Amino acid sequence: MNNAGQFRDHFRELIEAYALGSLDAEERAAVGAHLATGCEECTRALEDARLLVSQLAYLAPEAAPLDMLRGRLLQTVRAEAAAAKAYTSAISKSAIPLWMWGAVAAVLFFALYNAYEAHSLRETIRKTQEALTAQMELQQESARRLAWAQREALILTDPRSMKIAMSAGTKGMPELQATWHHSMGIVVSGQKLPMPSGNRTLQLWLIPKAPGAKPMPSMTLRPDADGTFDLLVANPPDSPSGTKSLAITEEPAGGSPQPTSTPIWVGAVAGK
Ligand SMILES: [Zn+2]
Repeated sequence: MNNAGQFRDHFRELIEAYALGSLDAEERAAVGAHLATGCEECTRALEDARLLVSQLAYLAPEAAPLDMLRGRLLQTVRAEAAAAKAYTSAISKSAIPLWMWGAVAAVLFFALYNAYEAHSLRETIRKTQEALTAQMELQQESARRLAWAQREALILTDPRSMKIAMSAGTKGMPELQATWHHSMGIVVSGQKLPMPSGNRTLQLWLIPKAPGAKPMPSMTLRPDADGTFDLLVANPPDSPSGTKSLAITEEPAGGSPQPTSTPIWVGAVAGK
């Protein structure tokens, strides 16, 4: 925010001492000059510290922080002071009145409390954002499902859609029904399908009319626990006019670029 750059943190650490009037003349002048540059962080810190100091002015020396806090706070103050040797050398211990130590402890407590408050506020914001994100994802998911169901319903009900019966080569296998809409895609559905073993899956193929052309891979889907199969292919790799038949094979999870087993179901696409 200002050209003090790397020194900003250093000044920020001196603000409480500045407000307490416990800096030496040189440091005091330096902090004053820094504040004159308009550093927002230090200015705000100074306001907070001055407010606290003005309240501390009413405190009697014995009105130090609560007994349960005092020991720990003074311990922290001493640790801080030991760590910042330059700071302690600037303020000789004997020159500090007893009430000042209480003030320093209070300032420190104030800073710790603020840090704690800021943390719990951040935590609250984070949790709220998480809940909102989850809610939005849920709404997007249901909107997506609804759009999907609407698309499927349109494909199934549009009289222009082509109905393709897909019969199974194996006896006892239920027949599947494919419905192909020229612009909305293909729906393949069936009931009471056996579950492919392991995590193998069923994959749809478009067999092109062009002689010698390879089957075009499409989507994969496992039947649900009830054996219901309901596959919607919104963007088939080819049009009905270029396709001779639809086929479904069993493939490893994720599908294959070309069939690795003989089709279980096949249905001829009526020429148009
Ligand atoms: Zn600053």
